[in-house]
Amino acid sequence: MEINYTITKVHSSYRAKAQRYAVLAPLRAKGESGKTRVADIKADLATLRTHWHARLKSLQSAGWTRSESFKWGYAFNCPPFGVDSQTSVALETRVIPCGLHLVCPFCWARLVVGPAYDRLTFAFYRGEATPQFRMDVIDLARSIKVDGDLQEAFAYIRSYRSIALGLFPGNYGAYVLHTVEPQRQPPSKKRGKKPKPPTWIIRERVLALVDTDFPMPTVKPTTTIHRTSSPKKALLAAIVGRVCGYPTRMLRGPADRVVRVLSDRESVKLSAYYGGLRNLAAQTRKGPPKGPPATTP
Ligand SMILES: [Zn+2]
Repeated sequence: MEINYTITKVHSSYRAKAQRYAVLAPLRAKGESGKTRVADIKADLATLRTHWHARLKSLQSAGWTRSESFKWGYAFNCPPFGVDSQTSVALETRVIPCGLHLVCPFCWARLVVGPAYDRLTFAFYRGEATPQFRMDVIDLARSIKVDGDLQEAFAYIRSYRSIALGLFPGNYGAYVLHTVEPQRQPPSKKRGKKPKPPTWIIRERVLALVDTDFPMPTVKPTTTIHRTSSPKKALLAAIVGRVCGYPTRMLRGPADRVVRVLSDRESVKLSAYYGGLRNLAAQTRKGPPKGPPATTP
């Protein structure tokens, strides 16, 4: 059964904006990523649903086993994010998010972007109307190409997380997020030439809360790095939107390779919070959020 959603209200909160920056903007055509009109947002969410349905069918054809499970119905009818909506079904029919956030753009917004915005905002605001601390946010992103073996990509992610934090000694809190996507393959022009092995792209994003006089880390030219001084909510939404960008190739890449990412991941954790961003309960203490304990040489 297909559930139709009629959007009655588009949320104007910074949290909802962060979700739209992270999920809708990367899927838009070039030059249109900044669209903010309510009508555009509604149209984008409707288009996204159409693409999501096509994606689910192609994943199913490519042998995605999860799609045969009970989750299939939830995934197909996964509710939109950042809006109030009415559904075409009776009230007693429960609308349940599918939770398959590695591929579902709606759940990516709900389970990856929303919590990141909540944690980061709480680190500054502590539930008050104004920021309670002065800290800088440094976020960096880079892409790593892995040829052929998908397990190599996951092995890298397993080993890298602690290295990422080494760039930010004494940080007040940090967030590391990895995604793995099939890379676009250039078509082989020469006839008879052996096709190249498929390549995968790991996107690595690291965010850290640091002192305002923390020295800027030195990174390779291929890494993009931003520093924002004591951001307020509008800027926090922009930062989260940038750091938590939805992996668009999961929606648009070849279905058979997306299925491999989904089924080969096994237990590899793709994101983690550290220090003052790790759990909200720990942040209710007075004072700036605590960083990880200093390592003794
Ligand atoms: Zn979902």
